[in-house]
Amino acid sequence: MQISPEIKDRFKNSKNILALTGAGISAESGVPTFRGKEGLWKQYRAEELATPQAFSRDPKLVWEWYLWRMELISTKSPNPAHFALAELERKRSDFHLITQNVDGLHKRSGSEKIIEIHGNIFRNRCTNCNRKYDSDVSKLKNSTGCPNCKSIVRPDVLWFGESYDTDLLNRAVSLAERSELLFVIGSSGAVGIPVELARIAKENGAFVIEINIDPSGYSKYADLFLQEKAGEIIPELISYFV
Ligand code: NAD
Ligand code: ZN
Repeated sequence: MQISPEIKDRFKNSKNILALTGAGISAESGVPTFRGKEGLWKQYRAEELATPQAFSRDPKLVWEWYLWRMELISTKSPNPAHFALAELERKRSDFHLITQNVDGLHKRSGSEKIIEIHGNIFRNRCTNCNRKYDSDVSKLKNSTGCPNCKSIVRPDVLWFGESYDTDLLNRAVSLAERSELLFVIGSSGAVGIPVELARIAKENGAFVIEINIDPSGYSKYADLFLQEKAGEIIPELISYFV
């Protein structure tokens, strides 16, 4: 991929670099995205399972799906795109990462300054007393009861139709406002708030680079669209940062 000298200059001169990642960055690790036929589980679509309504109707079914996803993700590893972003964090103290992913692969690749705006699948929380727990698949298989109050626990992730954690969202908005260079990586733009973050960054003067194998709901904000696989292009892009 030919990256122009002008873009390389931007890498050098921009402050407050931000990356916003979605399921596509983990696709090359073998974690299925939601959209596309590999996103199906049994006959269900994610939108039918990742909702508070589905959980109150059939918590056992929703837990079965989450346990399947946790087991699957546990067998996967971060890919070169995750590692490259972790390297960028070491290179640049003004770099931040906002991820929509719940798979924890950014942390496992060494990134530390991450906002997980949609939560983390390896955490659960009580629907009654709100205590949070690290998820232990074998224990959860036997009981999804809260050790403290015996109510049912749920995955500590944001479901379709739920409100964002205000503190996390405020932090994400302020990073978007301050950012001079935004990478949007592997996200379809089907979820509204993350697209808003890109709009905010753009309106506040950020140069927006999108990396996706297909155009997305973010493409209208992109100053540069790189139609590439994240694991193939991100390491190269990061190598231009000093
Ligand atoms: P999405 O499934 O809606 O879209 C995935 C996007 O990634 C698509 O635009 C696709 O073209 C792109 N893509 C696929 N392979 C790619 C590659 N190799 N390189 C670059 N781009 C690639 O995902 P989303 O936009 O993140 O939104 C879905 C929601 O589902 C999010 O809230 C997210 O939390 C959740 N989710 C998370 C995971 C995960 O944690 N890994 C997996 C599935 C869904
Ligand atoms: Zn409880």
